[in-house]
Amino acid sequence: MRIIISLVLLLTAGAYWFILDGSTPANTDYEFPLAEMRELINDSDGPLPTALNLEIISTDEAPLLAAHAGLHFEAFHLAMTSFQVKGGDGDIIIGGAMDKTLYEPTKQSDNATFSDAGYRRMLDAMLASDATLITHEHIDHLGGIVRAPDPAALAPNLMLSAPQIAAMAVLAGNDGLAAAYKTLAPADLSSPRLLAPGVAVAPTPGHSPGSQIFLIRTDNGQEYLLIGDIVWAMKNIKKAWGRPRLLQYMFFKEDRAQVQRQVRALHELSTAEPSLILLSSHDKDWLDGLVAAKKLGKNFQ
Ligand SMILES: [Zn+2]
Repeated sequence: MRIIISLVLLLTAGAYWFILDGSTPANTDYEFPLAEMRELINDSDGPLPTALNLEIISTDEAPLLAAHAGLHFEAFHLAMTSFQVKGGDGDIIIGGAMDKTLYEPTKQSDNATFSDAGYRRMLDAMLASDATLITHEHIDHLGGIVRAPDPAALAPNLMLSAPQIAAMAVLAGNDGLAAAYKTLAPADLSSPRLLAPGVAVAPTPGHSPGSQIFLIRTDNGQEYLLIGDIVWAMKNIKKAWGRPRLLQYMFFKEDRAQVQRQVRALHELSTAEPSLILLSSHDKDWLDGLVAAKKLGKNFQ
């Protein structure tokens, strides 16, 4: 009997540990380098971006508990996205989503969708961009770049860090990584950096070694912070509550302690600065709402 009770307790504790616990440290000393990024933007010369546009390349559904630890069985609507900063002098693209060959085997729901037109618009915008970057080196952010039909044309516009470039090979198709990508020179993105007037990037390793955030200020004064996959659902920020460990350990190796500190810091930031628009890469309902409110432009222009 004692063995059974011990076993039940152990299983319960295990379930809590792996699936239900998303707690973040109550007091975090983690600070995003927003002050430094704003200083870079304040000191920059030239016209600020006129718009931030969203392209949703594909969508999917998963139980919310995958993104937000706990017994949340309702559907979380995922979007695989790319952002277009319409600059005064040129555009910057952030995010590569997935192409169809990666979308097909990775989709989880019968309701998943892929937009051929959206993927084509993203590629055309990348080819016309001053620079194309990603928030981090995971399949649904870099795969669409790795599998692009014309790597030689795209390569000169890519601005990727060493850990991001290192992740490209495993996302390549049967023919291996394109020659144009094998010789990519890594960009130094190891400290906050101005990319264009009104656009700054800063390293925030945790979700992956090459994770980074982007601060964008448009000419109407609105600021946006692209946070990549620090959280998938905006509910994580609202509740200061992270992903289940099970997912982190099974599918990708996150620095969980660091991510939990970042989630808490985002929670505090959202309270302190309610007018700063936080953009997680995947929260479709949140992003759709911003498009409806005309805070984001629908599709690339
Ligand atoms: Zn990711």
